[in-house]
Amino acid sequence: MPSSAHGAEAILTIDLDAVASNYRLLQARMGGKPVAPMVKADAYGLGVDRVAPALWREGARLFFVAQLSEAVALREILPAEAEIAVLNGLFPGEETAFAAARTMPVLNDLGQLELWRAFCRQRGPAPAVLHIDTGLTRLGLEPREVDRLAGSPELADGIPFAMVMSHLACADTPEHPLNQQQLTAFHDALDRLSAVVANVPRSLAASSGIFLSSAFHFDIARPGAALYGLRPQESKPNPMACCVQLRARILQIRHVDSPMTVGYGATHSIRGPGLIATIAVGYADGLLRASGGRGHAVLGGCLVPMVGRVSMDLITLDVSNAPEHLAQPGQWVELIGRDIPPDSVADAAGTIGYEILTSLGARYERRYIGGGNEGVR
Ligand SMILES: *Cc1c(COP(=O)(O)O)cnc(C)c1O
Repeated sequence: MPSSAHGAEAILTIDLDAVASNYRLLQARMGGKPVAPMVKADAYGLGVDRVAPALWREGARLFFVAQLSEAVALREILPAEAEIAVLNGLFPGEETAFAAARTMPVLNDLGQLELWRAFCRQRGPAPAVLHIDTGLTRLGLEPREVDRLAGSPELADGIPFAMVMSHLACADTPEHPLNQQQLTAFHDALDRLSAVVANVPRSLAASSGIFLSSAFHFDIARPGAALYGLRPQESKPNPMACCVQLRARILQIRHVDSPMTVGYGATHSIRGPGLIATIAVGYADGLLRASGGRGHAVLGGCLVPMVGRVSMDLITLDVSNAPEHLAQPGQWVELIGRDIPPDSVADAAGTIGYEILTSLGARYERRYIGGGNEGVR
């Protein structure tokens, strides 16, 4: 155990082998086609500086981030041969910064296409990704821009496209009719843009899309959530390995009896004799305040309920039913892990696993296991 662990009140352990095995599972689901990991937002809170190299070692060669600043940081982390693409596109004047970081913009409208074309004309061909909106109504060329580009393919002259992509709105709900509509719209757009994107690798599926039919797979997938252990489909058992474990220490145990209340706002009333444990994690650590009175932790294999409100640095658990020798100051409770995965934590807080992972706090002591690469960050 690293010596810095002494005195730690909460420890976040990230299992890089679990991330690697999820990568292999997704690639197998894709029939061996390439998988381009999404490592935006610090690899969904898991730590891009450890996660991206682990994925590189598994064979990933193209990585996606949301922002140029993330690409600049990632460029320092990955070997020079790695390809990086920035989902949020480019603003005028950023072209040289993209080139300096050897990063591809995802071109989201015809204005960005024009900027990149002018840049390629001046500085020589530099790859980019073309994004077509097929129904998410967020980023990407809208239908009238696809029409315009189909009629004037020279607008893209001299841009070597590395990928043409679109993104699904409802892939986690297989029966949703928008999935098929977006698939049809993507095929239509590809057909109409054949002069621009002939032989360019096509990508539609993120995590959940990989678990739709193979019609959604195209040439390359762009998963994030499932790589990090989140369930790709809400109504099915989760095939992904849990990658994070969050443990925190019991600071105090209160022997309670009625009548009394627990926490700010006195929202929890004690009805009889019991044990309340105070734990060193709060909403400042990303334990969402909405979990108060709804979430759980695990102590010695027992599910113990969060009672009262979540404070900034503390929560309170009713540990009356946990093994007595574990309901003691200094013992560790599990707040996220195999027995209480991020998706369950999210369900209790009325949110999604993505928000749980990307909210993981900065005060936790972080430990990385697996990936041939153990230690503390
Ligand atoms: C975030 C994102 C993904 C990854 O989605 P997951 O559901 O996390 O797999 C893929 N493509 C785009 C455009 C995204 O914004």
